[in-house]
Amino acid sequence: MATLSPLLKQATPVLAERGEGVYLYDTEGRRHLDFTAGIGVTNTGHCHPRVVEAARAQVGTLIHGQYTTVMHEPLLRLVDALGDVLPDGLDSLFFLNSGSEAVEASIRLARHATGRQNIVVFHGSFHGRTMGAAALTTAGTKFRAGIGPLMPGAAIAPFPQAYRYGWDEAEAVRFALRELDYLLVTASPASDTAAFVVEPVLGEGGYIPAPPAFLEGLRERADRHGILLIMDEVQTGFGRTGRFWGHQHADAKPDVLITAKGLASGFPLSAIAAPTALMEKARPGSQGGTYGGNAVACAAALATLQVIAEEGLVDNAARQGARLNDGLRKVAADHPEIGDVRGLGLMQASEFTGPDGEPDAAAAQRAHKAAADHGLLLLTCGAYGNVVRMIPPLIVTEAQVDDALALWSRAVADAVG
Ligand code: PMP
Repeated sequence: MATLSPLLKQATPVLAERGEGVYLYDTEGRRHLDFTAGIGVTNTGHCHPRVVEAARAQVGTLIHGQYTTVMHEPLLRLVDALGDVLPDGLDSLFFLNSGSEAVEASIRLARHATGRQNIVVFHGSFHGRTMGAAALTTAGTKFRAGIGPLMPGAAIAPFPQAYRYGWDEAEAVRFALRELDYLLVTASPASDTAAFVVEPVLGEGGYIPAPPAFLEGLRERADRHGILLIMDEVQTGFGRTGRFWGHQHADAKPDVLITAKGLASGFPLSAIAAPTALMEKARPGSQGGTYGGNAVACAAALATLQVIAEEGLVDNAARQGARLNDGLRKVAADHPEIGDVRGLGLMQASEFTGPDGEPDAAAAQRAHKAAADHGLLLLTCGAYGNVVRMIPPLIVTEAQVDDALALWSRAVADAVG
């Protein structure tokens, strides 16, 4: 008899049987309000009928059209459809399976295109767990401790974490950009730096939106030094933040955009997008994989794009996100243990801290568990595990946001009294 490895660390005890919309049902028939969306993946809700229908039809036609061997229609149609939502000029796409793989692909592309080796990331970053992506990941001990040596060439600059510094946002941005400038003349000279890789909202690192002035500062420095600006939109893309892409909250367009998670509503699919002229600098055949651009995943992604447009999910994310943020602030107002509430669209978080702003992971873990006991599934994040985040599907209704807030209020009262 085999057993599941104890290295698995599961956030909730739920044994899921089926999912429908914003709900998961366990094997005992209990309903859970799923504000994790499978870590920000099921943006169209669990088993959206249009996605199910598209995937079913494709399964009966062609499952595995291996796209480095033969081309298939769903992938070509997806390239066309993504052209309508990608930033102007990012007109060339390459497909993989996971966020981590797409991050790896962007590193290879940046090194080929610039002939430089260093990649600058920002403290608290999460870009994946494969060994190259792990070298770019600084979101917490568990992602790095004991697994090195990691890929050389990664340099780390501060991310403007205003709340943690105890500063206002403008000061945090000034500090972060000053330190980046310093890095570019010291540890990672600009002439050796291929790319900045940044999340428009620091995700696993604590749900901290990048201030627009920070992303704009990165764009300006990238242009000045011939460095590529790579936006990791794995978690922030596909409407999650109330704009189609997270970087659209700032006046800063990426040179390379990385997408995954929400792209195919739960089927494994990721992609990098860049201008054709940039992609042409990569060596043909230097990237790829057996399953990248899977036909069923591409069909699901096409349906996902249609659902997002037809159901107005980007606007809904902005509207419900504002409502959720407002409600979270009201809960925090009654509980000094919640030191900060922040987020963009339907990426919202409550940070638990002690009287001097020190991280209080125990309170966050208690609140997270109490919420699950009340039927509300959430996740934690942040380097200290003291941030509780909410990432519901983008189809969430006002009434469901209010239900979640009522359950959250009870969970926080249980956790901190
Ligand atoms: N980048 C970001 C911003 C992410 O949030 C994640 C996953 N949480 C990844 C990359 C890695 O994606 P995957 O788990 O699909 O490899």
